[in-house]
Amino acid sequence: MNSQRSRSHRRAPLLALFCVSVLLSPVLGADKSGDFQRIGYYVFIGTGDYKPEYGPETPSFTLADWENLIDYLKSRGATTFIPLVTGHKLPYPSRAFPKHVETEAQSVRDDSLQRIIDYAKKSRLEVILAFTTTGHCRSYAQDHPELCIVNEDGSPAPGLCPNRPGSEVYPLGVVEEVLKRYKNLDGLLIHPPEIKPICFCPECRTLYKQKTGQDYAGASPLDRQRFFVETYLKFAAKLLAKAQKQASLNVKLMFNCDWMDDHVDLMSSLPADLDIIYWDYNLKDDYLAGRLQENLKRYQTMKRTIWYMPSSEPRFWTPSDADPIWGCGQAVKQIKIAGDNGIKNIGFFLGACIRKANIDRIHSGMTR
Ligand SMILES: [Zn+2]
Repeated sequence: MNSQRSRSHRRAPLLALFCVSVLLSPVLGADKSGDFQRIGYYVFIGTGDYKPEYGPETPSFTLADWENLIDYLKSRGATTFIPLVTGHKLPYPSRAFPKHVETEAQSVRDDSLQRIIDYAKKSRLEVILAFTTTGHCRSYAQDHPELCIVNEDGSPAPGLCPNRPGSEVYPLGVVEEVLKRYKNLDGLLIHPPEIKPICFCPECRTLYKQKTGQDYAGASPLDRQRFFVETYLKFAAKLLAKAQKQASLNVKLMFNCDWMDDHVDLMSSLPADLDIIYWDYNLKDDYLAGRLQENLKRYQTMKRTIWYMPSSEPRFWTPSDADPIWGCGQAVKQIKIAGDNGIKNIGFFLGACIRKANIDRIHSGMTR
């Protein structure tokens, strides 16, 4: 499961070779990023969930741009490359869902995903493909309001409810297609929907009544949230079982969403070899000293490998007007807190914009 960990045991006989490499390569010499076993970078192949005004860069990346980025990330300690291969539209030329393809993305025009994966592998990076699942699928969800999560006022939310018949066709179909079509990867990462954890669809109401004897409308927000978590985890287990049958996956990962944080006990229903990436972009000192550490401890109670994902993208930081120099310093503090809490794997959020100045600041803060 943890190839990086086992690789570290094999380092000693290679010491002489490593010393020569350090002398020959200043880049490798600058590569020591703390004591972490993995340094991953999570990058969108297409636009992902970025709005046009965010100025997404990666959708126009040529293969040469991807190779340059991978070389750069290697120089910033990367052991792991995590491309997002979904989003509101699909950044690969899907045959299963051609209507929902991001046709303007370069990766669609030249079908370069396999070559990007192959270059990362050739660069000795572990490659984990990331999938948004029932959320961040706006193109499909807009076409299928009958499969969507339902708000209290009856309107469809921009996410699919796994309790609604037919809602799994798209998220399971995308994973199936990608794993069939693209090879040479080490694992998969699934992303739950970043959405209000509540669904008033008829199926959720009926199931909730069957399960608890209570009306969903009268349930407390926490009970509704717990039901939402149970619903998603059941779907996630099904997706993972299907993916595992399809490809050999050494690493299986799931992001947390904050609506899961109070229901970590429910994750015992997930496969034992599923690891979790906890992400949090609140950089305020009182938060770092409080809720962040509480949450890390909570996730650490599971017998799973927990990763931590800081962000180099100021747009998503709290506070959102943070100065990058301060913000990167706070991200370094987050990473130190993660390390102090026993976390060995870091996976940086880069999204669809590559903030090299910030990556450099954080990297140098980690290696200092
Ligand atoms: Zn529902």
